[in-house]
Amino acid sequence: PILNVISTSPKDQARLKDIEAARARGESDTPVVVHLGYSVHGNESSGANAAPAVAWHLASSTDASVTEMLERMVVVIDPMLNPDGLARFASWANSYRGATLVSDPNTLEHNQSWPSGRGNHYWFDLNRDWLWLQHPESQAHVATFQQWRPHIFSDFHEQGTNATYFFQPGVPTRTHPLTPQSNQDLTVAIAKFHAKALDARGEFYFSREDFDDFYYGKGSTYPDIQGSIGILFEQASSRGHIQDSRNGVLSFEHTIANQVTTSLTTLQAADALRDQLIAHQKQFFEDAKRGAAANPNKAMLFAADGNPARLRAFAQLLQQHGIEVHKVKGSVNVQGQEYNATNAIAVPLQQRQQRLLEAITELRTQFKDNTFYDVSAFSVTKAYDLASTKTALDVIGETYSAPKNVGLKAESQIAYAFSWNNDDAAPLLAALSQTGLRLRSVSKPLRVQTTDGAKDLGIGSIVIPVAMQSMPAAKVTELVKQASASTSVEVFALSSGAGLGGIDLGSASLKTVERPRVALLAGQGLDQTSVGELWHWLDTYLHLPTTQLSLDRVASTSLEKYTHIIMGDGSYRFSEEANKNLERFIKQGGVVIGIEGALKWANSQSYLHTKLVKAESGKADSAKKTEGDDKSVEKSEKKLQRLPYKDQDGNAAKALVAGVIFETDVDRSHPLAAGIPRDRLPVFRAQADVYRLEGDPYGTVAAYTSSPVISGYVSDENAKRIAGSAAMTAERVGNGSVIMASAALGFRSGWVGSRRLLENALFFGKAFEKARTEGEEE
Ligand SMILES: [Zn+2]
Repeated sequence: PILNVISTSPKDQARLKDIEAARARGESDTPVVVHLGYSVHGNESSGANAAPAVAWHLASSTDASVTEMLERMVVVIDPMLNPDGLARFASWANSYRGATLVSDPNTLEHNQSWPSGRGNHYWFDLNRDWLWLQHPESQAHVATFQQWRPHIFSDFHEQGTNATYFFQPGVPTRTHPLTPQSNQDLTVAIAKFHAKALDARGEFYFSREDFDDFYYGKGSTYPDIQGSIGILFEQASSRGHIQDSRNGVLSFEHTIANQVTTSLTTLQAADALRDQLIAHQKQFFEDAKRGAAANPNKAMLFAADGNPARLRAFAQLLQQHGIEVHKVKGSVNVQGQEYNATNAIAVPLQQRQQRLLEAITELRTQFKDNTFYDVSAFSVTKAYDLASTKTALDVIGETYSAPKNVGLKAESQIAYAFSWNNDDAAPLLAALSQTGLRLRSVSKPLRVQTTDGAKDLGIGSIVIPVAMQSMPAAKVTELVKQASASTSVEVFALSSGAGLGGIDLGSASLKTVERPRVALLAGQGLDQTSVGELWHWLDTYLHLPTTQLSLDRVASTSLEKYTHIIMGDGSYRFSEEANKNLERFIKQGGVVIGIEGALKWANSQSYLHTKLVKAESGKADSAKKTEGDDKSVEKSEKKLQRLPYKDQDGNAAKALVAGVIFETDVDRSHPLAAGIPRDRLPVFRAQADVYRLEGDPYGTVAAYTSSPVISGYVSDENAKRIAGSAAMTAERVGNGSVIMASAALGFRSGWVGSRRLLENALFFGKAFEKARTEGEEE
């Protein structure tokens, strides 16, 4: 569990439950509430080390300034937002410190290896998870936040060793436009208290630069859309006990003292500005209510056809954020999409959290400022790939509750089958794959007779033969029953092996599903959050044992014991032996799945057809090997390039793809597109490399559309380059295959819509045929 310390006057301690209940009801006539959160990044440890000092000070001080302040205030202290990351960092720093402290930045103590303590157990950045709530830590923080509805939430971090001290406000133009001006005004008023106290200590500091307040999935921005004031603090980091910096030797004690100082000035500010903070919160929700009342629309509808698991996960996410979710009353049809009680949910617009709902579902392509500290788009509707609309009709039914699990409906002597459209299907298949059962996947749609009537089995549907197994029929039934019992998947019992539409169960179009034995490449040079995302998906969603294979062991490991090698984002610099080993693995039947940075590796392998497209010429980079690139660099350097120095930042921002939602066109006849509900699939990408598959017109599973930007900032030039390029490709190589994607398909584990493509790559990675070109014999 995540433990909090609650500090207030003895009188209020005695009636804490009442105050808590009043806060949860949204009453404003309560003590002012300050929520202090420390070290969400575990390797920024001054915060977590300041927390006990702050708690002790509040508990023990007999000074009237403290005791009187606590008469009017409740302080919720979350001493370490990321316990696992903090432990990983502390263990590292303490393991390398000596009896004589070393301030040299080059020493091991100051340079934690991969993965660093920034992330949590799964290497995720918890300070990006406030929206997606994929981890127990964030679920606990948000539950506390929703319970207490603090007036201020403070988020204590560290930055580079040579920096000074930062507190918000950040860059004014980089504040999310839905955050009201009064929030920023109060942030400025609060900042004066920090400045005064740091001045007294002779500390240098800065604000209004660098950090932004745009992405509501960060701890210091999440509160801003809920009537609260989120404040980011960044202390220069000693990353260990002492370290040389531009400002002299920075000691750990000193960094802790600064964090204690601003913790206490936060409380002083909250006390002094108490009336304004309470009025701001009250006004925020009154304005939201007025806005909702004036809106002709009454509800937002979200639908996921044939995918109750997706709808359930989405509804539960909204509920954790304090957003009311209801069943749909009656049915509504908007532009051919039906919304009803079984496939959709209704979310009323007239509710307290209406603004948060708007913020996390809106789409935006125009921005005051093109620089983003994190992503520029975060629509949950797109991440969950839901059909959605607003309606003025009265569609709000009873409060949503998850439907009952379905599982196996009847027994069969022939086969069992289930559709791939449900998000619970992949974990079910993963579980079945561990039982020793022979499993088949449908690569061409068929229609079958079941005990429940005729059913269509679309691409990706799973068929489990009953007789053709190495175990008795009763055992097969028992295994299927057990595995499916706790899922929303409906498992059909087939009454005949004859197909009703031409294809029978014995068809070669039913492909073997192998038990995945996955090696996930890990180590220095790779993006730990990207690799962590893949590990988290394999481990906690699919429950597949996953080998984390160190990059430096690729050359010497017998790769044939694996079915899949998965490459997350990052930079792959393999030796010739390692590349040869990978090539052999693929040609002998292995499947390589790579995303984002892995494209550069694929591009450098001459036997692959996955090719990066050059930015300048727009031509594929296929003819040249990577070493040959130097010539083109020389050529462009001959022309003198000259740009105004002040434009540097803006131009750099244009070159980036700042975490953007793009529209792709999916070839839904391809086995690797199984379970994707519409031809248009939103994906998230944050890198600028553009690629295509050469020589195989059938291998592009998803491509960016001609006008692909759905939400977020991307320069016109980059949007043009990305339009029409490949989002996901698949090529057969020897007996194996290579599947690549330019998007972060399972981004932050919240992008469950496009993550289906990864699940397909895992289970159907060889369920498609090699492209047959003219003159080639099969
Ligand atoms: Zn941080």
